[in-house]
Amino acid sequence: MGDIDLISAWEVARGQPPVWRGVTILAAHGAEAPQLFGVGAREAGVLAVYRELIGERLDCEAHCDTCGERLEFSLTPQDLAAPSGAASPRVDVDGWTVTVRVPTTEDVAWAIDQPDPNAALFRRCVVAAARNGVEPPTGCLPAFVRDACERRLDELAPLANVDVELACPACGQAGRAPLDISAFVLTALHQWVATRLNEVARLCHAYGWAETDVLTMSRWRRRFYLAQLGEL
Ligand SMILES: [Zn+2]
Repeated sequence: MGDIDLISAWEVARGQPPVWRGVTILAAHGAEAPQLFGVGAREAGVLAVYRELIGERLDCEAHCDTCGERLEFSLTPQDLAAPSGAASPRVDVDGWTVTVRVPTTEDVAWAIDQPDPNAALFRRCVVAAARNGVEPPTGCLPAFVRDACERRLDELAPLANVDVELACPACGQAGRAPLDISAFVLTALHQWVATRLNEVARLCHAYGWAETDVLTMSRWRRRFYLAQLGEL
């Protein structure tokens, strides 16, 4: 997929509900049916796009919960990598056996419109449940079983639930801040898109080419022609 697809996708994604943005970027990058990826795989894919386009460093910022100080920090994709040893989708707790699956973006988008989104999404994540081999009549699980399943879902999709440990240099408070990978990448892509369009503007101006012609060129050729202008 070329830059023209990614720039168009970025424009579309900015106007979408947050849940769909990563899917739009992945589709433009050539992924097949990314709306059906588990949310952890989706975030891994979005992170891979970031690494390809921008690099190996994630410059982030957050605000201290206690004093409001702005905190800047850098991460690498390795800092966010899943712990080794894949978790099992089967949860065994106190006679209960539950098989779970990580929700897809379609599941999450559907659940947002339900009266109780969290409960609705959780029901979608339960593939099978039984207590001592017998299925519960209503499909309802006790709270402690549900908690165990929620923890397992977090383990199965760690990139969908990233928390970063932070220590505030101003007040000393230590805490954790969530990092939404899709949102982070969308923000970072803004600068990437602006840089590409700046190149397009310079080339169109210098050579009289059309925007589409410049954007469908390889990045290498664009850099070559810019270098000819003495601008690199
Ligand atoms: Zn602070």
